[in-house]
Amino acid sequence: MRIAVLKETREGETRVALVPELVGRLTALGYAVAVEPGAGVGALHADEEYAAAGAVVDADAVEGAEVVVSVQPPPIDVVRRLAPGTSTISFLPSLQETGLVADLRDSGVTAYAMELVPRISRAQAMDALSSQALVAGYRCAIVAAGLLRRFFPLNMTAAGTVPPAEVVVLGAGVAGLQAIATSKRLGAVVKAYDVRAASAEEIRSMGAQAIDLGLEALEGAGGYAREMTEERATRQRELLTPYVAAADALITTAAVPGRQAPVLVTREMVEQMRPGSVVVDLAAESGGNVEGSVPGQVVRIGAAQVWGGSGVPAQMPGPASRLYAQNVVNLVALMTRAGEGEQPPAFAPDFADEIIAGACVTHEGVVRHEPTRTALE
Ligand code: NAD
Repeated sequence: MRIAVLKETREGETRVALVPELVGRLTALGYAVAVEPGAGVGALHADEEYAAAGAVVDADAVEGAEVVVSVQPPPIDVVRRLAPGTSTISFLPSLQETGLVADLRDSGVTAYAMELVPRISRAQAMDALSSQALVAGYRCAIVAAGLLRRFFPLNMTAAGTVPPAEVVVLGAGVAGLQAIATSKRLGAVVKAYDVRAASAEEIRSMGAQAIDLGLEALEGAGGYAREMTEERATRQRELLTPYVAAADALITTAAVPGRQAPVLVTREMVEQMRPGSVVVDLAAESGGNVEGSVPGQVVRIGAAQVWGGSGVPAQMPGPASRLYAQNVVNLVALMTRAGEGEQPPAFAPDFADEIIAGACVTHEGVVRHEPTRTALE
C-alpha cells in the first residue's frame, strides 16, 4: 500500500498534505509513504525530515500509489498519470472545477473532496473546513492588530490610560469565533454578529458582546446560515452601520455554503469609519463581505485600510499543514482495514459509511456527487 504526497503547484499554496510528524501514523497503518521532493518546503519541512520519519522522497511518488494526497486538487497532468482505481484526497471544489472532475471520472480515479466530509460529530477529526477556518480566523485578528496603529489592550500607565481598541466581528462561525477569541486574548473589546440562532450564546462564551439587531435568525439546513433576501440585507446593513462606524477594527468572515459571500458592509458604511481604522475581509475571495475589498490587497476606502483575504490559511503554512494532515490521516485511517492473521492491512473504503460516501466525488467512472454530476450533464 503506497501513499503519495504531492508537492503543491498552485500559486500561493504553501501548505503540504502530510507533515513529517505524521508519517509514522501512516506507516503504522501499513502504508509506504512516498513524498515528492520539496513537498514540505513551503511549510518549512525539509525532505530530510520526511526521510528521517520513514518516508521515501521520490520524484515519481505517484507511480504505483494507491492513494495520492494533496491540499489543492491534483493537477491534470498528475491525474492522467494515475492508474484506474487510484484514490485522491484533497480539497476539490467540484462545482467550480468541473473540467478536472470530468478528467478524474474518465481516468477511473476515486476522488475524495475534503470540503465534502459531512460535518457530523464522528467526522470532526476529519473536518478540514473547520481546521483551516480556525487558522484563517486567527490570522485575521493578527492582521487587524498588525495594521491598526494603536493598542488592542487597555493600558494603564503612570503617564495615563490608553483605552482598548474596539473590534467588531461579523460572521461568528469557526473562523469568526477564532477571530473573536484571538482579539480578546490581545485585550480588545469585541462585539460580534451572526444570523444563526445559536451564535449569540457562542459569541458570549468567547467573552464578547453579541450584537442584537432584533432581526429573525436565518438558519437553513445543517445549522448553516440561509441566504438573505435583499430587503433583509438592506435592513441588516442599516442596523449594523453604527457598530461599523464605531469600530477600530472590523473583521468579516460570513459565508453561506454554495453561494457568493453576502455583502454585509457597503462602501458608504466603511466611509463612516474613523481615520486609522482597519477592515479585514476574510471572504474577499468569494465575493467579499465588504464592498470594494480586493483579495490579496490592502486598499483604501474613506479613511480605512481594507485588507482582502486571499489563501489565508496558506499564510500560516506550518499549523495549517499540520491540522490538515491530521484531518487527512484520520480519513485515511477510516478507509483502512487493519490486518488480521494472514490477511494484510488494506486500503478498503466502505461506501456504506456516510463520511466516505459523502466525501466521494468520482468513483469507477461515475460522478457520485449529485450537484456536480448535474452540472456536468
Ligand atoms: P461558514 O464558513 O459557512 O460561515 C461563516 C459564518 O457566517 C456562519 O456562522 C454563518 O452563520 C455566518 N453568516 C452567514 N451569512 C451571514 C450574514 N448575512 N450575516 C452575518 N453572519 C452570516 O460557516 P462555518 O464556520 O463553517 O460553520 C457554520 C456552522 O456549522 C456553525 O454552526 C458551526 O458550529 C457548525 N459546524 C459544525 C461542525 C460539526 O458538527 N462537525 C463543524 C464545523 C462547523
